[in-house]
Amino acid sequence: MPPFDPQNARPQTIAAQALRQNESAAERRFITPPIDISATYERDADNAYSTGYCYGRDDNATIRHCQEVLTRLENGASAAIFGSGMAAATTAFLALPRPAHIIVPQIMYWCLRDWLKHDALSHGLLVSFADMCDPGAVHAAIRPGVTKMIWAETPSNPLWGITDIKACAKLAHDAGAILVVDSTAATPVLTRPIELGADAVMHSATKYLNGHSDVIAGALVFAHDSDFAREVRRLRRSHGAILSPRDGALLLRGMRTVHLRVAQQCQSAMMIAAHFSSHHAVSTVLYPGLDTHPGHEIAKAQMNGGFGGMLSIRIKAGEVAAIAVAANVKLWRRATSLGSVESLIEHRASIEGPGTPCPPDLLRLSTGIEAPQDLIADLESALDAVPSG
Ligand SMILES: *Cc1c(COP(=O)(O)O)cnc(C)c1O
Repeated sequence: MPPFDPQNARPQTIAAQALRQNESAAERRFITPPIDISATYERDADNAYSTGYCYGRDDNATIRHCQEVLTRLENGASAAIFGSGMAAATTAFLALPRPAHIIVPQIMYWCLRDWLKHDALSHGLLVSFADMCDPGAVHAAIRPGVTKMIWAETPSNPLWGITDIKACAKLAHDAGAILVVDSTAATPVLTRPIELGADAVMHSATKYLNGHSDVIAGALVFAHDSDFAREVRRLRRSHGAILSPRDGALLLRGMRTVHLRVAQQCQSAMMIAAHFSSHHAVSTVLYPGLDTHPGHEIAKAQMNGGFGGMLSIRIKAGEVAAIAVAANVKLWRRATSLGSVESLIEHRASIEGPGTPCPPDLLRLSTGIEAPQDLIADLESALDAVPSG
């Protein structure tokens, strides 16, 4: 076996030690770096800022450390951490020169779809909604010379459709546009969109990256130090869409265990999906790991080591029965959000509200790290109590 080379440390190793140290912690040999809570930094006597730090809204050592870890995990050039996933996503759109035509998924994270539907036009963004699981439909939506960005989300909320990242990157680049991938559900553990051609990756770091339901945060990771990346950083500063360093420290701790958590979540989700595929009260299990899932082959090619911890089940007897199942569980928690160590169950159409494309009989499951047998037994009792439809 070749000797360990720090330059070639594997992503799991980088995450576990949070890069070992970042540059500002190296001097004092911290195992766990202190939180940089300074809102401002002192100038040199000659009026320069030789440390590179000036003011807390521009830059912060704890946030920089988070960015360095995430950049390595995504194999990107740089990253920007935000105060939420929505702040990261909307900043990506607002960083485009406008007016701009953009192509986004028909089925995607609902709050962002809502912003694209109701707010984007007033910011000079002309939005086309396309079936991102079908490269032909994406191709048809492109307006050569006018389309500036394709936005994909894979696996996508709440049906866990799969987008072919390589194919969409080629479509985008042939049209002179960029591809940005919301990789929240895939995590850098399973998919590295930049290696597949994406220009940037977005995360709701609230979810798997932090993984403990105690921080709201977001991130963009860039493939290159492009004008786009510079404009994103400029807007983060001018809009003040930053993460507090105290939350940054929690996020940094969360990321150290992301590989272990996601490995368990993938394994448990696969067991749950397989188990309930044949349950009499369930009409469909939506999980990219099942070979019946329409995106299974592409998922196998672009996801590495698992298919994620997210799945949905559709209840044969309909909406009322679905809500009853969520009411009957004792271990799963009834809450929105995903990617944390505790398992969550949610009647998705209720939170998305009128106009949602989410089927009313659908329950979204976010698999945590509890014993999968307990999760299965609890959900089975709740399902057995409702009619088979
Ligand atoms: C939660 C989520 C977001 C939004 O992130 P916040 O941190 O809640 O602002 C965006 N995309 C996906 C896929 C999400 O799950």
